[in-house]
Amino acid sequence: MSDWEEEYNEDSVDIQKPAKKSAPTEWKLPHDDRRRGNVCFGVRNENRFGAPREWRADRSAGGSEYRSRRGGGEGRPCPWGTDRGDAGRRTYGDEKSDCSPPVTITVENASVGRIIGRGGAKIRELEESTGARIKINKGDYEGEVVIFGSSAAQQKAKEMIEDLVADGSYRFRNGMKGGQHGGGGVGGGYRNGGDVGVRSDSVWGAAELQAGNAVPARISIDWNTIRENKDKYEELKWKDLPPMKKKFYTEAESVSMLTAEEVSEWRKENNNIFVDDLKEGEKRHIPNPCRTFMEAFEPYAEIMENIEQVGFVKPTPIQSQAWPVMLSGEDLIAIAQTGTGKTLAYLLPGFIHMDGQPVPRAERGGPGMLVLTPTRELALQIETECKKYRYKGYKSICIYGGGDRRGQINLVKGGVDIVIATPGRLNDLQMNELINLRSITYLVLDEADRMLDMGFEPQIMKILLDIRPDRQTVMTSATWPTGVRRLSKSYLKNPMMVYVGTLDLAAVNTVQQTVLIVHEEEKKSYVFDFIRNMQPQDKVLIFVGKKLVADDLSSDLCLQGLAVQSLHGDREQCDREEALKDFKNSRVRILVATDLASRGLDVHDITHVFNYDFPRNIEEYVHRVGRTGRAGRTGAAVTLVTRENWRMASELIPILERAGQEVPEELVLMAERYEKHKSEKEMYNSGRGGGGGGGGWGRRDGGGRGGSARGPKCGF
Ligand code: ADP
Ligand code: MG
Repeated sequence: MSDWEEEYNEDSVDIQKPAKKSAPTEWKLPHDDRRRGNVCFGVRNENRFGAPREWRADRSAGGSEYRSRRGGGEGRPCPWGTDRGDAGRRTYGDEKSDCSPPVTITVENASVGRIIGRGGAKIRELEESTGARIKINKGDYEGEVVIFGSSAAQQKAKEMIEDLVADGSYRFRNGMKGGQHGGGGVGGGYRNGGDVGVRSDSVWGAAELQAGNAVPARISIDWNTIRENKDKYEELKWKDLPPMKKKFYTEAESVSMLTAEEVSEWRKENNNIFVDDLKEGEKRHIPNPCRTFMEAFEPYAEIMENIEQVGFVKPTPIQSQAWPVMLSGEDLIAIAQTGTGKTLAYLLPGFIHMDGQPVPRAERGGPGMLVLTPTRELALQIETECKKYRYKGYKSICIYGGGDRRGQINLVKGGVDIVIATPGRLNDLQMNELINLRSITYLVLDEADRMLDMGFEPQIMKILLDIRPDRQTVMTSATWPTGVRRLSKSYLKNPMMVYVGTLDLAAVNTVQQTVLIVHEEEKKSYVFDFIRNMQPQDKVLIFVGKKLVADDLSSDLCLQGLAVQSLHGDREQCDREEALKDFKNSRVRILVATDLASRGLDVHDITHVFNYDFPRNIEEYVHRVGRTGRAGRTGAAVTLVTRENWRMASELIPILERAGQEVPEELVLMAERYEKHKSEKEMYNSGRGGGGGGGGWGRRDGGGRGGSARGPKCGF
């Protein structure tokens, strides 16, 4: 499974150009220590930076595929990538020369890596030992393993592949012909709709369909009856739910005694906290903030011990105001700047909530708390954070794609209390009935806007189908785009909203932000200059827009003899984790990453964020900048802006202004030029008498920041 990164040109259209090799720079090798362990210091270790050449995305077609180098198709590269522009899948005519129709197995994407093996080693081994040829198409959530060759070879290969992924990650529907799977499938009449299976003849499906064969009969669906039955079904579904408790808050006397003026003054002084009751009709009492840990958790001695152990002095503003709301059992949207302790804000009330449930832990039959996050790295980080706070012996588990699925299943079976998960993998375990979600009473969507904006919604919706509707739900982020605000209504019930500072986009004010207007071709020398001037204690996270650029730039830095790591979605999960580990423990001080790393990651000693490519949307700018200056520390962000980024200029200016940063004159001019250009285009389009729906410029921005308006951009 991959991340969401996509590659857009200035008009937000997928681009297909190969990464340019950089012009040589004047940068001299600072020392000759070229390779050290698995950290790349030189050219020889080219695979350290993710996909080797032949595995790169084939941009000319939807989906992505891996084809081993053996057998037919010589001269064609073996592309492997995760271009997510299109979930469509491809079939290849040149395989038709094989004697038996190909067999297709559908496996979840996470298992694809196991079949391919490092550098394609496993797939070659499979081919050699079976005599079959194997091709893999990677889709959005699942991969297709197509096996060519004699039926004996196919059978043998199929069995070996089953063994490789043999833990229930796929199901078979043998003997079904392409086109018989119904549901308006993609390409050659594939089955569609969340099920997985085996096609015995996928390659021929399209041809058969064209010949008029096997066109599936449309089943008419009686939507009215379905709608009528929905309420009854819901009632039945949740009929036998065990009792649940949500209110655990006893307001401390020192908190109750605060006057309205004192509360308002305190909120203002603490980064301008604002609390809103989003319940329609009569509004509820908004609890006063807890200014100390004691005020929030006095009755919970074990929590207080934990806090003493980590040595925190006082709650952050979001914690002060979110804790009384959450402990009172209300749903909450918590919006606060990056690095201000939102994780702890939801973890501690979650512990208390779980412990206070009337059903004894042993009888719940599953976990009590679920935290959903958009990236694997963030899920792992939250789990680490969670483990820091021991409470009642609660066990947590991280369920994420690319991780050891079998191991995760075993841990779940062994009994866990807290699940921290990425939606894809959790959905996979849920669909295979390997995890019970009905026991969950406390749900968190961390970086909620990212998950909803980037296309996780269908998976989250499926997950929620199994979680009791009367649960307590918390959503957090540092940004809250308007499109997501609307969506959040389907997840929360009468929530309160706490936000710190402003709901307008604002970067954390402990980061000094510098914006440089440059030409595209100058970018490399800027980044090299920056690195040349780094001090020994500096640590920089360099953000790029594309996976290929991440590979390219990190290779270039590597060639200069620099210790560097890269992090993006085309890298194997173990390499991703290693890259982050190397960066965290300062084995490398330069990490080149895509926006995979923009959310949530808490590497406390990052001193600089370098935006080599401007992010796709302005929210990501705020999150990227927030990777430094965490928990009150200071940091610096350098952002390169080129002419191609002109549409972002007017959105960047207010963020700089809000944080009291210098706004370069050139940026203002750029914004003005873009606004002029936009209005001229609008006039031109309206002059043509058409222009409905945005004037056909193919831009996503449309001048608004509505989250969902941008549409899903993820490719998983
Ligand atoms: P966010 O989710 O808001 O971006 P995190 O939850 O990742 O921020 O927290 C950032 C850092 O602040 C973490 O290292 C965390 O341990 C630390 N932290 C959390 N709460 C406090 C506190 N009350 N005082 C000091 N540091 C804190
Ligand atoms: Mg966070």
